[in-house]
Amino acid sequence: MCRHLVYLGPPTPLAALLVEPPYGLQHQTWAPRDMRGGGTINVDGFGAGWYTPAGPVRYRRAVPIWTDRNFAALARVTSVGAVLAAVRSATPGMTVSDDACAPFAADGWFFSHNGFVAGWPDTMAKLAERLPVTDLLTMDAPTDAAFVWTLVRNRLHAGYGPAEALRATVAEVSAAAAGSRLNLLLTDGEKAYGTTFGHALSVFHAAGRVLVASEPFDDDPGWVQVPDRRLVVAGPAAYTVEEL
Ligand code: GLN
Repeated sequence: MCRHLVYLGPPTPLAALLVEPPYGLQHQTWAPRDMRGGGTINVDGFGAGWYTPAGPVRYRRAVPIWTDRNFAALARVTSVGAVLAAVRSATPGMTVSDDACAPFAADGWFFSHNGFVAGWPDTMAKLAERLPVTDLLTMDAPTDAAFVWTLVRNRLHAGYGPAEALRATVAEVSAAAAGSRLNLLLTDGEKAYGTTFGHALSVFHAAGRVLVASEPFDDDPGWVQVPDRRLVVAGPAAYTVEEL
């Protein structure tokens, strides 16, 4: 079980979003509150991708987030109006490296996968055969999450909208690998697109800001739980929840 989050809204220090909230991603690294789907701690790495006037930037490391004092210092002085961040609990057997940590990125998109692909890698062989070889050669890591991103990225490049790219990817991966858990999160810095397929997700929306997160990062009663098998499309002004 990984934990992930997108924030869209007025510029806010990364630390206020990831480190300081009482149940924020840093806390969820060692004490997540929603243990659905197994897993205990999220110490195999972390990452954050955000947008600057000079373009998107990403920071990923295969260490528990609390041990990286350089990140803690950066997070205090870096304000973001849009960020996707995640802490990772590697699925057993998957490589642990910086490149295996979310967010995965291309062309201004950031992506994260909370869950696993059942029967990896054999169940994905047929889907992999249909991808251009270059897509496979540019996978960040030999993990299920990096492969799911490769499928999504291929669809974005083929002209799918983000919501349809996620929907179609969840449909094809779950058809080929029953029992998979596929909570996906995607952003272009303007909107967030999230699926629930086997894991928890909550939304907090107020006054021009929105958070889409695996679990509420504080006790504010404004957090709304998203039911399973839904697609969330969220922007600072409003969000929708539809059947997946
Ligand atoms: N299976 C993915 C990985 O190993 C995601 C892990 C998770 O959600 N725990 O990177």
